[in-house]
Amino acid sequence: MEHETVTGLVAKAVSSRDADRYLTILTAEQGKIECYAKGIRNQKSKLAATAGLLTLGEYKLFRSRDRYILTSGKPIELFYGIRADVARYACAAHMIEIALDVMPPAQQFTEALQTLLNSLHMLAHRGAPPEFVARVFEIRILALSGFAPMLDRCSACGRPLADGERRFFSMYGYGLICGGESCLAAAGKNAMPISGGAVKALAHVAECEPGDIFRFKLSDGVLRELSAAVPEYMKHHFGKAYERLDEAERYRSFEQEAAYIISRRGII
Ligand SMILES: [Zn+2]
Repeated sequence: MEHETVTGLVAKAVSSRDADRYLTILTAEQGKIECYAKGIRNQKSKLAATAGLLTLGEYKLFRSRDRYILTSGKPIELFYGIRADVARYACAAHMIEIALDVMPPAQQFTEALQTLLNSLHMLAHRGAPPEFVARVFEIRILALSGFAPMLDRCSACGRPLADGERRFFSMYGYGLICGGESCLAAAGKNAMPISGGAVKALAHVAECEPGDIFRFKLSDGVLRELSAAVPEYMKHHFGKAYERLDEAERYRSFEQEAAYIISRRGII
């Protein structure tokens, strides 16, 4: 039995008994760990204020064999700018769900955690659009997980591709496809035309230094291309659809519809 201190982000909370919860914390020191937070739902609990969802903090844990009990916490960052906005919160939930899937239990994956924290920082403090942050996060996580799309040659025939030529992106393949008939036929309907700007953006995010992933500019058109290609590519390679962002869209359209109905009735 021993005491340990970790720095990490509270990523998931599952209720247990009345006032207790199991928390999953993404830590720098030990990767993804689960710990028991006794009494965290009590109003007077100090843990309630220091170990809530989406809180980055320093946490003291009591370890007994392979079980952890959270004993105290000190918040470092509460990401208030994210909590106040539905679209930002949905984007954070989306990225956290992906991070929970790619970070193995009790094993460091420092770059994935750093990518998540950088992305949350962009959402909370830099006013970056959630759709942009989500795409950058997804591309980088795909690259860190060994699924970086092939961008310098055709992923079907292997022919090197020049910047100016017509290229396609294969969502269910391994990256770019040349305009060759047999390559396009093999990729089928899942190959979409892709611009040079989108290829440059993919290459930058997948290959740059960790601190530079957001240091580039993107046009609305290129962002639309990435939004058509990257989530589908991720769904295929990770074998799972991530739908938290769509939930935010549904919620937002519901909000707009409600506001419209209320205004038509002359209530506001
Ligand atoms: Zn080809």
